[in-house]
Amino acid sequence: MPGNMTFDTLKAEVAAGRIDTVLACMVDMQGRLMGKRFTASHFVESAWEETHCCNYLLATDLEMDTPDGYASTSWAAGYGDYALRPDLATLRLVPWLEGTAMVLCDVVDHHSHEDIPHSPRAILKRQIARAEKLGLTAMMATELEFFLFKGSYDQLREEGYRNLKPFVPYNLDYNILGSTKDESIMRPIRNHLVAAGVPVENSKGEAEAGQEELNIRYAEALDCADNHSIAKQAIKEIAWQHGASATFLPKWHRSRVGSAAHIHLSLWKDGAPLFFDKSDKHSMSTEMKSFCAGMIAYANDVTAFMAPYVNSYKRFMRGTFAPTRIAWSVDNRTAGFRLCGEGTKAVRMECRIPGSDMNPYLAQAALLAAGLKGMEDNLELGVPVTGEVYTDGKLPDIPRTLEAATEALRGSTMLREAMGDGVVDHYVRAAEVEVEAFANTVTDWEIARGFEKA
Ligand code: ADP
Repeated sequence: MPGNMTFDTLKAEVAAGRIDTVLACMVDMQGRLMGKRFTASHFVESAWEETHCCNYLLATDLEMDTPDGYASTSWAAGYGDYALRPDLATLRLVPWLEGTAMVLCDVVDHHSHEDIPHSPRAILKRQIARAEKLGLTAMMATELEFFLFKGSYDQLREEGYRNLKPFVPYNLDYNILGSTKDESIMRPIRNHLVAAGVPVENSKGEAEAGQEELNIRYAEALDCADNHSIAKQAIKEIAWQHGASATFLPKWHRSRVGSAAHIHLSLWKDGAPLFFDKSDKHSMSTEMKSFCAGMIAYANDVTAFMAPYVNSYKRFMRGTFAPTRIAWSVDNRTAGFRLCGEGTKAVRMECRIPGSDMNPYLAQAALLAAGLKGMEDNLELGVPVTGEVYTDGKLPDIPRTLEAATEALRGSTMLREAMGDGVVDHYVRAAEVEVEAFANTVTDWEIARGFEKA
């Protein structure tokens, strides 16, 4: 069970007065939880079946604007409703909020009750179903890197995000003393998430001042994405409860290392790891090789789903553990794809391209689509790269800008076949909205550079 509470248990907890609030949440295009706070008695009486939301929730941006150009909805169409259908398997306690439970919802059409195709959960479920048709289970893990800063979100906003002070002022990588200083925030994050049914394995200090990482045990792809979204919400809320701020902006400072959300992938068949072949040099099965060849062949096509904002591309910088090139390696952290668990049943590929700002449902779906296409076409995996990949000029670059990634997405026959034209066009528009918003902004950098000297 992905959650940790049955509907009957919820009803009993509500009757006993221990739960008074139920959060009914959908996942939006940005990977955020959006929804309503129900009085628990109303939820168990009727809302557990269905509730509603304005359909602009899947046609907006980080600022909740109403950009034009979406086929799904608009001012002209009157911004009507979608139905939200609680997925009761995801019901769980939210231990960091008093008397509260949470359920994730699928976004469905009001009348037909079919999944809305461009809803992130529906997009991932479609690729999972494709794998299941082949008897395959996609297992994934996402790593959540983020920065903790001193001061609340409100305080930092009022100060214009200037003079940001990392919660711990030095590189925290694996540093137990340094990360002890974060424990007032990190311990409740780990423990509350476990009590919410999210199987946290560990947290660790990361390779920059104020940077932390949370690792969650790998799970079936949909559970993995659900766990990621809930964990991200918990991290922000628990930091806020402690008067601090957590950010998943990948690059908050040009000379600081950015935050990633690496994705680990493996396929399983009949309960056994399909990627493992002990007779192979790197213990990779034929299926694993063609799956990984697919992810590499289509890395350009899927980058917009792994790096969805202008800022995401600032992270791809030499010498920061973030990749800059599309290549696979055996346990080499300078490549976009890193083989992990070589020689063991846990053999898997880690994709290091996604930033901490990715929407996990979209990034996982896109990688799965690329890998499955590689298997269908029996693509051949080249030899692994060695040495410092950053400086190997023969290897292709990860798209350098959101514009370049958007054009690759627009032109992707692979994703159009896997996800449908409507879905691809929808997210092309989302990326264009980001590019347009940035083009219409005058940045601090331009003013500082040109005010006197231009
Ligand atoms: P790292 O050295 O990258 O920190 P970890 O051992 O912490 O590696 O593992 C990273 C993630 O990989 C964890 O979330 C773990 O649950 C996940 N993982 C382990 N085995 C598999 C597998 N077979 N398929 C997918 N993910 C896996």
